[in-house]
Amino acid sequence: MTQKTKTIPTNKPVVAVFGATGHTGRFVIAELLRREMTPIAIARKALSEAEFPEKVVRRQATVDDAALLNQALHGAQAVINCAGPFIDTADAIASAALRAEVHYVDVCAEQISASKTLEKYAWPNPDKLYCRSYCPRHPKVHEVVFALVDEVCDAFEADAFHAGMDEVFYIGEDQCPRCKGRNKAELFAEEVLAIHDHLQAAKRQLWLWGDRLLDGKLTGLGEWEASRNDTYPAVDLIPKDVVICDWHYERADPTAVYFAMKGLDVVSCAWKNPDAAIAQVKDMVRFRESSTPQMKQHFQGVVETIWSGSGDFLDQYYGRKPANEPKNAGYTESKCFVRMFEEIANLK
Ligand SMILES: [Zn+2]
Repeated sequence: MTQKTKTIPTNKPVVAVFGATGHTGRFVIAELLRREMTPIAIARKALSEAEFPEKVVRRQATVDDAALLNQALHGAQAVINCAGPFIDTADAIASAALRAEVHYVDVCAEQISASKTLEKYAWPNPDKLYCRSYCPRHPKVHEVVFALVDEVCDAFEADAFHAGMDEVFYIGEDQCPRCKGRNKAELFAEEVLAIHDHLQAAKRQLWLWGDRLLDGKLTGLGEWEASRNDTYPAVDLIPKDVVICDWHYERADPTAVYFAMKGLDVVSCAWKNPDAAIAQVKDMVRFRESSTPQMKQHFQGVVETIWSGSGDFLDQYYGRKPANEPKNAGYTESKCFVRMFEEIANLK
C-alpha cells in the first residue's frame, strides 16, 4: 500500500500524531492546531475528510508495516505516540522515528513499556554516556531554551537560575555543520554568555556547575568531575558574575580557590559523603579567614545537592523511610545534609 506524502507547505513545526483518533490523540491534535502547528494525523484506519479540520494532514499506518510508517512520518519534525497499549506500539514508532531522524515522544503510563523504551533507545549510548549533543549555534536553539528558562524563572519568581551545563561531553562535534572544527572552550563560553545575557536582561543571575571549567587531565579528576573535552579554558572567557557550583562528591578537592582566583564567586557542593561535606565547610571557613578582602568575597559557602526526588529525601530526613544505601547507612543524602549543617551550626 502506498499513499501520497507530498511536501507540507508550512514554516511552522509539523508534528505527527500516531493514534490520532483516540481519546488522547484528539486532544494532542487540537493542542497542535491551537499552537498553529501542522499535525499529521496517523491512524490505523483510513481517515475521512470529516474526521479533522482541513489543516490536518491525514495518513494511515500500522505498527506492523515499517514502510508505511516511514511514509507516514514524511515531513514531520517529531512524532507523538498516543496509541496504547504502548508495549505493542512504542518500539515500532520509536524505530520509525529513528529512521526518519525525528524526535519521539509518547504519552505512555505503562511502566514496563517506558522502561523498555528507555533501555533500548536512551541509555547508555555507544560511548557509555547518557547525553546527546547540544548545538549552541543552532539558529533556533535559544528560542526553545530561553522560553523554558523564562517559564521556570517566572513560575518560581526566581532572581537566580542554575543552568546546569555540567557533563557536557559533546560540543563542537564533527557531525555538526555549524560547530565542526570550532574551539570547544569558545563554543561553551559563548553559550554561557548567551544564557547569562538573557538572564541579566531580567535582572537574574546565572549559576553553573564548575566541572566543564576544570582540566580533567591535569587535575586527575577525570571526564565527569572535570573536562577532558577541551572546554576548561572557558573559565577565562565567561562573565565574572556567574556563580560556580563546584561539586566534589568523594573528596573535598580545593578547587574553589581556583575559581575564586579567576574572579568568580563559588560554592562547594556535597552529595552523600558526610566527611567530604564537613571538609568542604571547614575549607570554606579557612579560605575566607586566610584571604584578602578582594578574594574573601568569592567564597560563598556550601550547598548540599540531592539527586533523588525531594519527597524521598524528606522521607529519609524525617526517618519515615530507611536509608537508600543499605550497605552504608551513613552515606546518604539526608545524613550528609544533617552532618553538613551540624558542622555549620558548630561554627563560631
Ligand atoms: Zn553545533
